[in-house]
This record gives sequence, C-alpha cells and structure tokens, in this order.
Amino acid sequence: MKIFCIGRNYTDHAKELNNPVPTEPLLFMKPPTALVVNNKPFFYPDFTQDLHYEGEIVLRVCKNGRSVQPGFAARYYDAVAFGIDFTARDLQDKLKQKGQPWEIAKGFDYSAPVSRWTLLSDLPNPQDIHFQLRKNGAVAQDGHTRDLIFSFDTLIVHISKYFTLQKGDMIFTGTPAGVGPVQIGDVLEGWVEGKLMLTCAVK
Ligand code: ZN
Repeated sequence: MKIFCIGRNYTDHAKELNNPVPTEPLLFMKPPTALVVNNKPFFYPDFTQDLHYEGEIVLRVCKNGRSVQPGFAARYYDAVAFGIDFTARDLQDKLKQKGQPWEIAKGFDYSAPVSRWTLLSDLPNPQDIHFQLRKNGAVAQDGHTRDLIFSFDTLIVHISKYFTLQKGDMIFTGTPAGVGPVQIGDVLEGWVEGKLMLTCAVK
C-alpha cells in the first residue's frame, strides 16, 4: 500500500504559504507507517515545535494500473475518506530553503490519520465534495473539490505515469486554505458532506 500526497492543489492554500501555483501536480509520498486509522489519537512528536494540520479528501485506488489514459481514470478510484496530512512546518521550511526532500517533515510515523471510507456513488455530487476540518469545534478549513487545480482524474493519470497504482493505495488530494498549528489537547474533526468522518485527539 502506498500513500501518495499532492501539494498545493488549491490556489487559496498555495497563496497562503506564498508558494507559486503549480503547472503540474506536486507529488510526494508517505510510507505505510504514517497511517493512523480507527480515530486513534495523535501524539505530538518531539522533533517539531510547529506541527500543522492539513485537512484533505483522500481517494482510494480500487484497481491496479499504470500509464492510465484520461478516459479511463475514473475507473481507478471508488471511495473517499477524510485525511489529515500532518506536517512539521518548521522542518519543512528548513528543507525547502535548502532545496531538500520533505520526507521527515511529512512522512514521519502517524502523520496520516485517515477516516473510514465512503463510496463515491453514495455522495450527492462526487464532482464537488464539500469538506471541513474543525479544530476544537470551530471550522478551520472549508473546502470544495470543485476548486481542485488538478482533478481526481488528472491525478490518476499523472501518478500512474511514474508509479504503478495498486488496489488499496491512497491519494491525499491536497488541502484548501486555513492550515494552522495544533497543540497538545486539541481535537480535530474531519467532516464530509455534513457527516463527521474523523476524530483525532492530539496528545
Ligand atoms: Zn497536504
């Protein structure tokens, strides 16, 4: 199982971090040891002083494939979940300055809580999924997948050019504006189409 992640896939978020809006998907990966399921708590790691949440819609890959053509891309995913792409922003800023890879800032243990799955066919509009990250009950991020710079289909085509997609792989599709720090004691919630999907207590 592979966890793909897309950076800067919403214009408003790229701008809030003063990053250029990309002309092709910015791809990175997290190892399987990053995954947290079943609403287990998240333990604040000691190597960062600036841990950020990024609330994202996660796609589930349902079919193996490589070099997928655009007309067939929609056959390769069947469900979505709410995920948090935990990021050690202080480490990431240092690595970015040096032009080095992001792995330790993004792919560390337990950096990827993922909720249960909802079939796309059960959503009111799979082309425009509404999602929110709430921190201690207040809405911190409010996104619509219609605002994605690179659509689900485009991501499938792009990723499968370089990596064989395997059933069970996950794709974090990017975060909208509103990312911010978390503290020990915070409770994060992921909502999709008005339903509570994920609860993550920071300990
Ligand atoms: Zn992200």
